[in-house]
Amino acid sequence: MKRAFLIFSLFLFVSNLQSQDTSKNNPPTSREVDFITYPVLWHQTSAEYRALCYQAFNVARTYLETIIPARLSNEQYAIITDLDETIIDNSFLEAKNIKEGKVYDAEGWKKWVNSATATGIPGAVDFLRWAAVQNITIFYISNRTVSDVNATIENLKKLQLPYADREHMLFLADGATKEPRRKKVAENHKIVMLLGDNLNDFSNVFERRSIQDRKAETDKLHDEWGKRFIVLPNAIYGEWESAIYDYNRKLTPQQKEEKRKENLTGY
Ligand SMILES: [Mg+2]
Repeated sequence: MKRAFLIFSLFLFVSNLQSQDTSKNNPPTSREVDFITYPVLWHQTSAEYRALCYQAFNVARTYLETIIPARLSNEQYAIITDLDETIIDNSFLEAKNIKEGKVYDAEGWKKWVNSATATGIPGAVDFLRWAAVQNITIFYISNRTVSDVNATIENLKKLQLPYADREHMLFLADGATKEPRRKKVAENHKIVMLLGDNLNDFSNVFERRSIQDRKAETDKLHDEWGKRFIVLPNAIYGEWESAIYDYNRKLTPQQKEEKRKENLTGY
C-alpha cells in the first residue's frame, strides 16, 4: 500500500511545482488517478478476482493438508502472511480517492487504517482460522507502520482473524525489507507457508530488482508457487509497478507515462 501512496504523493508534489494551486482551483483529476481506475474496478467488480483469491486459499489448504501428517512432535509450524491485499482489502480507500479525484495523502491513509473497516480478502479468514485449528501459528508481517498496530488489531479482531495480537504483528520499524522479521519467526518456528500479493513478501531476492530479474527469480522458484508460496492477485499496486519505473520515485507523471509505454511488448 505504502509504495503506491508514495508514488501518488510524488505526483501531488510535482503537480504542485507545476501549478501553485492544484488542490483548489484546478480539476484534481489527473492521468495518474485515471490510470488506477481500471485495476481498482477489476479488483472490486470482477468475479474472476474473487475466484483467484478462493483458488489461492484452496491451494494453500490442500498443500498444508499434505505436509501436516509428517509434522514432528517438536515442530511448531508457522505461516507468515502479509496483510494488505493478501488478507485484508484496502481498495475502498483507492476507490474513494478516485471518486473524489484525489491522490494519496498520508492523512487519508491514516484515517482509513484507523477506521478499522478493511474487509477480508475472499477466502482469507476461513483459511487462517482453519490453519489455527491445525495448531499452526500465524504471523502477520506487514509494512504498515508500528503506529498502525492497534487499529489493525481492532480490524483483524472484527474479522475474527486468529492471532490478532501484538506478538504476532511484525510491522514496519527498521526498513521495508521483511527478511529480518522472517528470520525472527524462523528462530522458533518452522515456516511452512508464506502468503503475499508482492514477491517481496516471500524472499529478499526480489527486492529492488529489474523486471527481467524478478521474472528470472520467479522462474528459479517455480516449484514453490502454489506450495510453500501462495500469491494473491493485486493489479492495483506493488513492486511490479515500482520495477516499471526502475524504483525511481522522482519521475514526473510524463516520464512515468513514457516508462509504461516502453515496457509494453508488441509484436
Ligand atoms: Mg500486500
